[in-house]
This record gives sequence, C-alpha cells and structure tokens, in this order.
Amino acid sequence: MKKLSKGEKRKISLLIPLFNEEESLPILYRELRETLEVLGIDYEIIFVDDGSTDKSFLVLERIHQEDNNVKVIQLRKNFGKSAAMAAGLAIVRGELIITLDADLQDNPEEIPHFIEKMKEGYDLICGWRVDRFDPFFKRWSSRVFNFTTSFFTNVRLHDFNCGFKAFRSEVAKEIKIYGELHRYIPVFASWRGFKVGELEVRHRPRRFGKSKFGVERFFRGFWDFLTVFFLTKYMRRPLHFFGPVGLLAFLLGLIINLYLSLLWFSGTPIGSRPLLILGVLLMILGIQSISIGLLGEMITSRYHQDESNFPIRRRLDKERNNSPG
Ligand code: UDP
Ligand code: MG
Repeated sequence: MKKLSKGEKRKISLLIPLFNEEESLPILYRELRETLEVLGIDYEIIFVDDGSTDKSFLVLERIHQEDNNVKVIQLRKNFGKSAAMAAGLAIVRGELIITLDADLQDNPEEIPHFIEKMKEGYDLICGWRVDRFDPFFKRWSSRVFNFTTSFFTNVRLHDFNCGFKAFRSEVAKEIKIYGELHRYIPVFASWRGFKVGELEVRHRPRRFGKSKFGVERFFRGFWDFLTVFFLTKYMRRPLHFFGPVGLLAFLLGLIINLYLSLLWFSGTPIGSRPLLILGVLLMILGIQSISIGLLGEMITSRYHQDESNFPIRRRLDKERNNSPG
C-alpha cells in the first residue's frame, strides 16, 4: 500500500451505519486504523448506531474516548439503514466519503483502491462484490434487482446495493436518502449528472450476528423501484407522464360516449349498458390524470426556482469568485 503524497492528503470520512454489531465493531475499528495509518491520511470515522439493542453503543463510546477522529451518532430507535446513512451524511466533513457495512463483510483493505479509482475523475464509485458470501437466495434475488434496476435506469452497475461506496462530498449534499432508498444512491447520483463507476471488491462472510435484511425486503422493493423510476425519469416533467396517460383515457372514453350518443339519437336505449359507465369513468380518469400532472408541474416549477437545485459542476465567474466543486 502506498502512502499518499502531501497534495493528496485531503480529509476522508468513513461512514458506517450499524445495528447490533457489538462483536464486529472492535475488530472493524482495528482494521480501519491499520489501513488508514499506512495511508497516512487525514480521516474521520463516523459510526451511526441505528438504535442497537446490544452493547454496540458502549463499544463505540469506548472507541470514541480513545480516538478523537471517531464520531458516534446514536439514533433513538431503529430507523433503518437509509436513515442511519442520512444522519451520518448530515455531519460529514471530508471531501471524500466512503461508506461501508459494520459487519466485517466489507474489507477495509479496499479503501485505498477506492481512493485510487476516484482519481480517474469519478464522482461516485460503487463496490461490486464479485464473489459474494451471502446465502443463495439473497445472491439471486439481488441479481434480479440489479438487472432490473440497471435496465430501467440506464445506470450500468452490477451491485447497486453494495454497502461499500466512495463519493465526493458534493454528491452527498445533493442526494436525499430516506425510506429504503440507500440502494439507489448511484441512480440518484447519475441522474444528477455525476460520473458513476464501479470497483470490484473482495467480500467476506458474516462472522458475528445475523443479516438484518431478510427476504421480505425484496418484496417491498417494488415500491422503492417505482419511486426511483418516477423521481429520476419524470420529476422535472410530471405532465409528460400523467399527460399522455390522461389523454389516452380521456379520448378512449370520449369515443365510447360518442358511439353511445349516436345509438341514443337513433332511438336505442343505452341507460343499462356497462359500456356507458366505462366511458364516463375513462373521461373522468383522464381529466384527473392531466390535472395531477399539472399540479406536479406547479410543484416542480417552484422547486426549480431555488438556485441550489441546479446541477452545476463548475462555474467560471470572476465577480462571484467561487466555484462549487
Ligand atoms: N444496518 C443498519 N440498520 C438496519 C439494518 C442494518 O444500520 O436497520 C446496518 C448493519 O448493521 C450493517 C449494514 O447495515 O452494518 C448492512 O446490513 P446487513 O449486513 O445485515 O445486510 P447484508 O449484508 O446481509 O445485506
Ligand atoms: Mg452484511
């Protein structure tokens, strides 16, 4: 492992969300220290205790007392990995942020490889656990998840859900993670115009405790996917989504009702026909859908008045004399 030169010595923040990982923490901390000391880098380690019910927080408290570079956040109860990450991201100071899991499955020796890879000009590097040490079902459901996410979002990654990621602080400032959306960090980043890449990492089996993510997460994942799909594709133009759907329904309803009107004028009774209900329903649905789209446009137009929402990479402007990034 090569030591970083002076110019490269920017602060990095390690962000580690955890829930009931008391046995792993001391080992993880030791491994992290070893790697970071060899690198000779200015660092901070932020542990976010996501409402652990074991002794995790006590262990962290002890580490914090001995090491000024270690910060600890304790959430009031278990809010989930996304909330823990968001809480940590709110206080990070480093120019480069590296997230990893606390269960020793992510090997800290990969950290220098992430730093190297970031130098190729990426804004975010997502880990890719090529040989993954997880149960069979999890590996396969994860494959399906990765394939569909990649297909629908056009972000070509193999392992979106890998806890091991590196990204610049600008990325952290712009993306908002809540619910179960930590899986989609690379998607949001890419959607905001950041350059996203991946790095093959070695993975290790879980040594202590058990996985916090069971099968049920994948079934709930559909709704997350819908959210992400909508947010990334139509957030800036909701009417483009609701408009065509609404127009189609409205026109279909209109044709049906015109046909029924013709029948009625020619003397055929139409009052008892189910088609009438369908026609009326489609027209109402159509108008509603278009109205929802218009409402969405009103909301987004307000949102985009705020200057901080423009995805600017650099700005050359002597008067202002500042350039984000
Ligand atoms: N985790 C968390 N809050 C939760 C669940 C998990 O902070 O509600 C942490 C967990 O302690 C670990 C990381 O998220 O550091 C990944 O969880 P886990 O290892 O259980 O997931 P898996 O590797 O099995 O996908
Ligand atoms: Mg794990």
